[in-house]
Amino acid sequence: MPNSPASDDSAITVLGTAQRAAWARRVVPPVERLGGGLWSVPVPIPDNPLRYTLSYLVPGDHGLVVVDPGWETEEGWQALTAGLATAGAVVGDVLGVVATHVHPDHHGLSRRLRAESGAWVAMHPAERDNLPQRIEREPGMRRLERVGRRMRGDGAPDEAIEELLAQLGESTPGINDMAEPDVLLEDGDPVPLPGRRLHAIWTPGHTPGHLCLREPDALLLLTGDHVLPRVTPNIGLHPERGDKPLRRFLESLDAVAGYDDHEAFPAHEYRFAGLAARVRQLHSHHEQRNAELLSVVDLLGRPTVWELAERMSWARPWAEIGRMRIAALAETAAHADFLVDEGELVWEGKEPGAVARLRRPV
Ligand SMILES: [Zn+2]
Ligand SMILES: [Zn+2]
Repeated sequence: MPNSPASDDSAITVLGTAQRAAWARRVVPPVERLGGGLWSVPVPIPDNPLRYTLSYLVPGDHGLVVVDPGWETEEGWQALTAGLATAGAVVGDVLGVVATHVHPDHHGLSRRLRAESGAWVAMHPAERDNLPQRIEREPGMRRLERVGRRMRGDGAPDEAIEELLAQLGESTPGINDMAEPDVLLEDGDPVPLPGRRLHAIWTPGHTPGHLCLREPDALLLLTGDHVLPRVTPNIGLHPERGDKPLRRFLESLDAVAGYDDHEAFPAHEYRFAGLAARVRQLHSHHEQRNAELLSVVDLLGRPTVWELAERMSWARPWAEIGRMRIAALAETAAHADFLVDEGELVWEGKEPGAVARLRRPV
């Protein structure tokens, strides 16, 4: 989610030039045949600045795997099946679906694709546990309640909580009925697709069970939302499941930085080369955010997370970022947690029902 200011892409080599041109013109890029015989199929996301998810078709000997089928709308389904047709395939050729993570812009269409093809659905076990319907079933974990509770602890004013929860309640129908997995992929596990080497790399951070997929023969890395060419993925949206999400994310960046000779196939924007440089950029982005957060703490003394988020810089002014304030607040809390873990800050009043404040240690 493009909450933070996006970086320029001068550190990387853009490979998806048609995709970048389409990005600049604000249109959907073409279906493309890629290295290793893969295909990229843009599937539209309604009302979202990212505009589309790049779904990848990975052919094997007797059928193919779809990675991240995209947001579930009729328009999205038409885009996906048209992409399959361009690749010379039909829905019945889909043997499996891999979700890099369960955000609806990636995993939404998995349910329909499985129903119409009989394919298996695969994800990391931590991502299965992160499925909204699984969290919703736990006592005291209904979505709006827990988001409201978290925002109150972060010091959000009541009227802002009410407004944001009302907006959240309207969004994303079907979110509590997404596809459960048939296959679990741990770090290093092969994707069961005969005729193709494709391995899972566990990259927690953006979500607790995020996966990248590596194709070692064609030197490809499908990066999901973990590494995108311009946008910095949001961290901290899953506090119920994600322990130390920023630290996990930074470690997961190092887990893919070594594949600098691989082409990066991200789930949004455009293909690129230069993973190591992009990873360095993301590290330095978070170092800058940490430094900015510390300077705001020094300015305010004992701020709440809400007061910090109000003063941090975002892609748009705080007053204008609307319901993205939930994500911005989560991101700020993730940075605060990281700095507490580093010993730079301490929490005051971080117990259930209280409003927590941050300060420098004495
Ligand atoms: Zn995501
Ligand atoms: Zn995404």
